Amino acid sequence: MAETTDQPRVSMDEITALAKRRGFIFPSSDIYGGIGGFYDYGPLGAMLKRNVKDAWWREMVEKRDDVVPFDSSIIMHPKVWKASGHIDAFHDRMVDCKVCKHRFRADHLRNAEQCPDCGSKNSFTDARNFNLMLQTFVGPMEDSAAVAYLRPETAQGIFVNFKNIYQTARKRPPFGVAQIGKAFRNEITPGNFTFRLREFEQAELEYFVPDDGNDLAAFDGWVKARRQWYSDYGIKTDRLRFYELKEDERPHYAKAGVDVEYLFPWGWGELESIAHRGTYDLDAHMKLSGKDLRYFDESQKAHYTPLLIESSAGMDRTTLVMLVDAYERERSTDPNGKETERIVLRFHPKIAPLQAAVFSLARNKPDLVELARGIERDLRAVFRTQYDEGNIGQLYRRQDEIGTPFCITVDYDTLDDRSVTVRQRDSMKQERIAIDGLRNYLNDRL
Ligand code: ATP
Repeated sequence: MAETTDQPRVSMDEITALAKRRGFIFPSSDIYGGIGGFYDYGPLGAMLKRNVKDAWWREMVEKRDDVVPFDSSIIMHPKVWKASGHIDAFHDRMVDCKVCKHRFRADHLRNAEQCPDCGSKNSFTDARNFNLMLQTFVGPMEDSAAVAYLRPETAQGIFVNFKNIYQTARKRPPFGVAQIGKAFRNEITPGNFTFRLREFEQAELEYFVPDDGNDLAAFDGWVKARRQWYSDYGIKTDRLRFYELKEDERPHYAKAGVDVEYLFPWGWGELESIAHRGTYDLDAHMKLSGKDLRYFDESQKAHYTPLLIESSAGMDRTTLVMLVDAYERERSTDPNGKETERIVLRFHPKIAPLQAAVFSLARNKPDLVELARGIERDLRAVFRTQYDEGNIGQLYRRQDEIGTPFCITVDYDTLDDRSVTVRQRDSMKQERIAIDGLRNYLNDRL
């Protein structure tokens, strides 16, 4: 679904450089040259991703009485992946360039004749299937009987536990099961920074509904809820689209499907897929395991297999969207008529790694430092805060670049008037606020 824009607002190079410079995201194992498709989240990135996951969890699980949480193991019985179809059909088509030996996903090459890497013409091998599951061995023997897979998605852990869950949580359809966890795919060509990884996190909701004619309405309800989620956490709607899959773009068993896509600097890319999967997944496990996973409806004294609506969102891709969407290079003219430029990340306050930074205007004035540290300690109990000191211009620049909504400065006047200067990230407006009123001030605005 590639569709490129003429002029991206921001390049991926800028995002990658900022992510590294400020400690959001680093290539994994960087001192050994990195390893393709794996990244580490630095102090700010870890907070950012945590906030993204918490926002998902809060809205999708905690605020709902019809969704229960779950946390399944990464390695499961290999038959899980036989039943789900991943062993037989979870492949990408792969081709190699015979000259430079570079490997490509066939669908990424389209009808290209020339190798994108070395420029050789007609140098491709025939396309072959390549299974995307990462393998390991369980136990001391490294033979075929010990082969196991790192899960390529979290959902199957929910399906195989469906009966355990509905019986113990005492839920009846419609109800959902949600889980956030790691997934692994041996992608042929990882890339676009953290967009296509080999180790990533998914947030998945599996919502089971009775086959009573209301399933498509339930599907639409989830599409609406997910649209609301992105809007509530500040993603610009003109860079987000909900692409409705046509019949020939959906698996045969899926009654409806919507891909949530974001306009990245390289074009539209999928963030999440929402699908009506019918009874496909439970049926597949019942068939291979021989176990009955149907729901028993007490009132009808009958068993039935519920229909499934799934929302599967990538947490790394969503975190990347938060970074890209928040990024702004802002030019303005200062009061002296001088052109200035700043980079600012306009994160939603719930997503921003830090919510307020507290500064002492001078490093070498113990009474100022002590006061500022005390204010920061007090606010830390309620907000995500950080203490810093030094040159005020540099401090503001740093906090703008990491998207902190409020900067609070303790200066010489503070010692007399017990007030501080609060600067807002977006408007750069500054106001004088009494120390005693700071918690309320921030509470109202965060
Ligand atoms: P793609 O077409 O980009 O490979 P997909 O259609 O295979 O993705 P799904 O199987 O629908 O993806 O997975 C659901 C979500 O998991 C995706 O929307 C994405 O956010 C995330 N995801 C899938 N593969 C990766 C990956 N390699 N790296 C990071 N996130 C991923």
